[in-house]
Amino acid sequence: MKFIWIGVDDTDSRTGGCTTFVAGAIIERLVANGFDIIGFPRLVRLNPNVPWKTRGNGAISIQVGKGTGNKTKIGEIGNKDIFCYFNMSSGEIDGKRVKEIVEQIIMEHSRLKDENTNPGFVILDEQPDLEMYYKTVREIVTIDEIELLLESLNAIYKGYKNRRGLIGATASVSWRSEDDKTYEIISYREKKKWGTKRYVDDASTKKMDETCTSTFDNYDYVNKHNRLVPSSPCPILYGIRGDNAEELVTAKDMIKSEKVDSCMLFETNQGTDDHLQRKKIGDIQPYLSVITGGKIVKNPYTIEGGHVIFTIKDSTGTIDCAAYEPTKQFRNKIRELCTGDLVEVYGGIREKPLTINIEKIRIKHLEKQFIKIENPICPNCGKHMKSKGTRQGFKCVKCGTKSKKPIIKEKKREINIGFYEVPVCARRHLSKPLKRTMEP
Ligand SMILES: [Zn+2]
Repeated sequence: MKFIWIGVDDTDSRTGGCTTFVAGAIIERLVANGFDIIGFPRLVRLNPNVPWKTRGNGAISIQVGKGTGNKTKIGEIGNKDIFCYFNMSSGEIDGKRVKEIVEQIIMEHSRLKDENTNPGFVILDEQPDLEMYYKTVREIVTIDEIELLLESLNAIYKGYKNRRGLIGATASVSWRSEDDKTYEIISYREKKKWGTKRYVDDASTKKMDETCTSTFDNYDYVNKHNRLVPSSPCPILYGIRGDNAEELVTAKDMIKSEKVDSCMLFETNQGTDDHLQRKKIGDIQPYLSVITGGKIVKNPYTIEGGHVIFTIKDSTGTIDCAAYEPTKQFRNKIRELCTGDLVEVYGGIREKPLTINIEKIRIKHLEKQFIKIENPICPNCGKHMKSKGTRQGFKCVKCGTKSKKPIIKEKKREINIGFYEVPVCARRHLSKPLKRTMEP
């Protein structure tokens, strides 16, 4: 074999562990055994709505071969610089040895005792069709169809327990970064600190956010939330996302924090909207993520828990859209919407009741809204008429003249045509920030 693709998924659990950390461990051991890393390691996020995901539903893939030409630094592990190559020589590599290393690391690092942790790895000498990636990021894929595909590609693979990790492992290798991609540089904590409170300095994060303009989702200024820092007890200290790999290295150097034990740069599908597909309302199914348009037919209202709901309709049906409580100030914008407005909603589908969890919204038309300012004036007497009761119209008490309509004025809308997105603190891994959409 001249080169090998490795895909790994689902080694983490809700209580710790981290698939990207396992990637670093595999890379470290491969390099120590004389293998070269080809291209950036890849962190691939998959369908965010699958009911059984551990945390971020991220899988990793790495290409291994005999590198040639220039090399680029992609990380530091155990005080050693780690490099990748972008060209390969025709030298042969030992596929069996690669498998041994991957298997060893998974056994050392996986949270196999956690009932929701079902690791899998694949070793392939070609990338499966891109279609498998899109299916896994947008829909539900079964283990049976993945195993069929792996058999047809003569893959070496192993799934542990219910083998679900094979799905992400395969999808991660299937992803192509040519169309759209971003990067994330991840810094890891010293092992003795795992599970304790992290120290990452907010002021340096804000400075970095202002200086490194190709980065995104760093800091939520309104909610005072440092988005670089995960909330789970995993080995990650912080991760910085951006469009430019080189600038991420600068960005990392600007962050003041507790000691960084190791770091690794990943190429990723985060912030690309790859999970979204255009659907008519009538075709929307649970667990998809969609872009769908419609006219608002029920005004936004707030339910228990502070979630804001409204209903949209197209020629095929109606569906509820929700701005949940964690989307904070975004809900105030949503509350400004009114019946008759035309919107395009971007978001994941919750099953019961079928609802779009809004990630962002595009307002295409604002319907004129009117508010009553006073009762009508009698044309004979010049005095205000009296209301006859709700929806009963008005009547002049002096001469009996009737009128149906009060004096109204157009309501000033506190929202504009265009895009609105949830704040940084509520951003999902795959959601494309407007910052990326707007800039060339
Ligand atoms: Zn009158």
